[in-house]
Amino acid sequence: MAERTLIIVKPDAVHRHLVGEIIGRFEKKGLKLVAAKFMQLTEKQAHQVYAVHRGKAFFEPLVKFLSSAPILVTVWEGEGVIEMSRKIMGTTFGFSAEPGSIRGDFSCSERYNLVHGSDSPESAQQEIEMFFKPNEIINYTPN
Ligand code: UDP
Ligand code: MG
Repeated sequence: MAERTLIIVKPDAVHRHLVGEIIGRFEKKGLKLVAAKFMQLTEKQAHQVYAVHRGKAFFEPLVKFLSSAPILVTVWEGEGVIEMSRKIMGTTFGFSAEPGSIRGDFSCSERYNLVHGSDSPESAQQEIEMFFKPNEIINYTPN
């Protein structure tokens, strides 16, 4: 099966009307969109998304932030999609992310950095399963 990644457009992006800009960057790169859901998470669901960070100082405010407003949850598919997506996003903190990346161009914050992307095939699989049933991921061939 082709590699997949979970990309979440976070609440700050929805508030700032940057959803289209952010999705557009993945699309224009040529990545293949295979699933999408616009939704608001409960705090419990947000805890699950960021379970790897449980216990860290930024965990609770991060979970509150992620569940504070709607998000757009998407799945993208293709060879090398995880690493390519991480480059499109930029490094974690907006203030030091490279210009040309989403975070580098639109964020100067640690927490409010607009986008989440899976960081490995294992976390991608887990994260995708949190949000999508197998039949919600669409199989198609782009022209
Ligand atoms: N974060 C934060 N403070 C920190 C580190 C991370 O608020 O010191 C937030 C930030 O929103 C980040 C998320 O926690 O996107 C998850 O952190 P991670 O290290 O997994 O960064 P990412 O994979 O998103 O680049
Ligand atoms: Mg991460």
